[in-house]
Amino acid sequence: MQFNLIADADWWEDYGGCGAGALARETVELSRRLGPASKHTENDVQIFHDATPPAFWRARAPDPHGLHERGARAYMGCVHLVLRSIHRMPTGKLHIVPLGGLGEFGMNCMAVRWGDDIIVIDGGLMFPEAELLGVDIVVPDISYLTENRQRVKGIILTHGHEDHIGALPWILSELNVPVWGTEFTLAYVEDKLEEHGLLDDADLREIRAGEGFKIGPFTINPIQVTHSLVDCVALAVHTPLGVIIHTGDFKVDPTPTDNRLFDLHAFAEYGKTGVLALFQDSTNVERKGYTPSERAVRRKFDEVFAHTKRRLFISCFSSSIHRIKLAVEMAWQHGRKVAFAGRSMNNSAEIAEDLGYIEIPEGLLIHPGEMKNFPPEKVCVLISGTQGEPMSALSRAAVDNHKHAKIEKGDTVMLSSRIIPGNEKAIYRMIDHLFRREAHVIYDDGSSPPVHVSGHASQEELKLIINLVKPKYFIPIHGEYRQLKLHAEMAAAMRGSVGNVMLIESGDILEFDELGARKAGRVNVGRVCIDSGSRTDVVEDLIVKDRRHLSEDGIVLPIIAINKLTGKVETSPEIVTRGFSPGEDGFVDGARQIVMQTLDASSAEEKADYGVIKEKIRADLKRYVSKQTQKRPLIMPVILEI
Ligand SMILES: [Zn+2]
Ligand SMILES: [Zn+2]
Repeated sequence: MQFNLIADADWWEDYGGCGAGALARETVELSRRLGPASKHTENDVQIFHDATPPAFWRARAPDPHGLHERGARAYMGCVHLVLRSIHRMPTGKLHIVPLGGLGEFGMNCMAVRWGDDIIVIDGGLMFPEAELLGVDIVVPDISYLTENRQRVKGIILTHGHEDHIGALPWILSELNVPVWGTEFTLAYVEDKLEEHGLLDDADLREIRAGEGFKIGPFTINPIQVTHSLVDCVALAVHTPLGVIIHTGDFKVDPTPTDNRLFDLHAFAEYGKTGVLALFQDSTNVERKGYTPSERAVRRKFDEVFAHTKRRLFISCFSSSIHRIKLAVEMAWQHGRKVAFAGRSMNNSAEIAEDLGYIEIPEGLLIHPGEMKNFPPEKVCVLISGTQGEPMSALSRAAVDNHKHAKIEKGDTVMLSSRIIPGNEKAIYRMIDHLFRREAHVIYDDGSSPPVHVSGHASQEELKLIINLVKPKYFIPIHGEYRQLKLHAEMAAAMRGSVGNVMLIESGDILEFDELGARKAGRVNVGRVCIDSGSRTDVVEDLIVKDRRHLSEDGIVLPIIAINKLTGKVETSPEIVTRGFSPGEDGFVDGARQIVMQTLDASSAEEKADYGVIKEKIRADLKRYVSKQTQKRPLIMPVILEI
């Protein structure tokens, strides 16, 4: 049996008239030497591959008509045919298209396409930066998916963090496709979809680590990993071209609090059988060594519980189930009642308890309103708002504006979380308020034992996974450009474990076929800003958002003059509008009153904290304006210090 390409040799001879002809002769010669296709190994192909180009390039002459270019393509065709006859590989292209999360923090979303089938891994959001006034959340532009809507077969989730599931309401309202996720992840998703009135129409399918399932041409095998959240998986996706592994978010925690271990064996197994590509979390690539286990914070918690004389407030991310579990256990041991303050903390604790991740002993839990009935040394409050979000329970408690959570002199507040870059100002402002109340504040100041540990793998863990998986191609994901680049460099230095390293960003199409991998064009990506509470009020990007907002609904500027020395509001607020017609008389007076009411209901400290007071005014005024006019103008409170 000879190669199919020999029959084509004459054709090539005619085809280019120069390079291609020489190439065709070489090819025929080589294929004769190689003999029957069935005997070939990959090594022969390598010889073939290495031998042909010099002959081809020798035949080169000036190329005024682009003939060499055509010859080069014919050469690629040759290699392709030989490979196919040897491996009987499927012809087709595997496209990996990150729609977010590569080159930015958050908004993780990646499409995997084979022919007419697309699956999507994660659909996350990004929290808006301070300058995005009037915007509640930011989600990825999914026009690639909507343009291919017939092809999209479903979304698979790695875990329940907002940067992986937060965009689902928006994606599902555009494309109602099935969603696969683990039990815990789906519980978060249900909560979220319920809130948006999308739950009834949603098709949610539970997956379990170690139990593979099929979607179109793909077989997906979820692999248990450890992270700051529970029930997290990496995904091994079997494609017609080979296995690709997407790590999701992870760290290699040998002692997770739920005792559900990182499945290193599965990664090693795949490494043995061969992996086409590894897509790995880059979040902590700048950190040397290993990320400490979740158990490392136990020592700090022990210390704090032992030394705290009065009320103990603990704030952590509401999704930090390991941390909530630890706090509940410690409170029980130290004879403190537990109250949950803040909606997200309550929801999260409820889900975790329902699914058996947290056990709350009978009689331990109290309603926040009951706090006052217990001596301060008998109370522990788990409170949401680690990032100084102006409307969160902790921020409000810090300025004495929470109904139940009162922070008094000598109380202890522990922030068991990291300071997300960009939130420093808000967080330190909140901490200042807490100091002013003479509370004892414990936060992540780098001291040991740590009050917080990261959920993402550091350098040595990243290297460990690369060594186990030994991928042909390595692609860093989940990170800002600097982190992707550093991760790529780290992997490239591991020559024994990694074939090639590909550095791509959101929007790049990474194409795989029999010949290898390459960037093959781009798709539209970007940030879409959404006001929560209305799925329909979606705009394409920031500038468009502002422009459309302004052109359709105009702008409302409440201007408040505050005396810098006394903190008092000096005059009645001005309400300036542009491009917005309130329709009725009395709108401006009404708006002015709303602002005054908000100011009256705020403490002196809140008024001194412009971030907080602006957000409160914006929220209250937004409610008033939409009730009065059914419009959604851009509302930008302005504070003048006089
Ligand atoms: Zn995560
Ligand atoms: Zn993440």
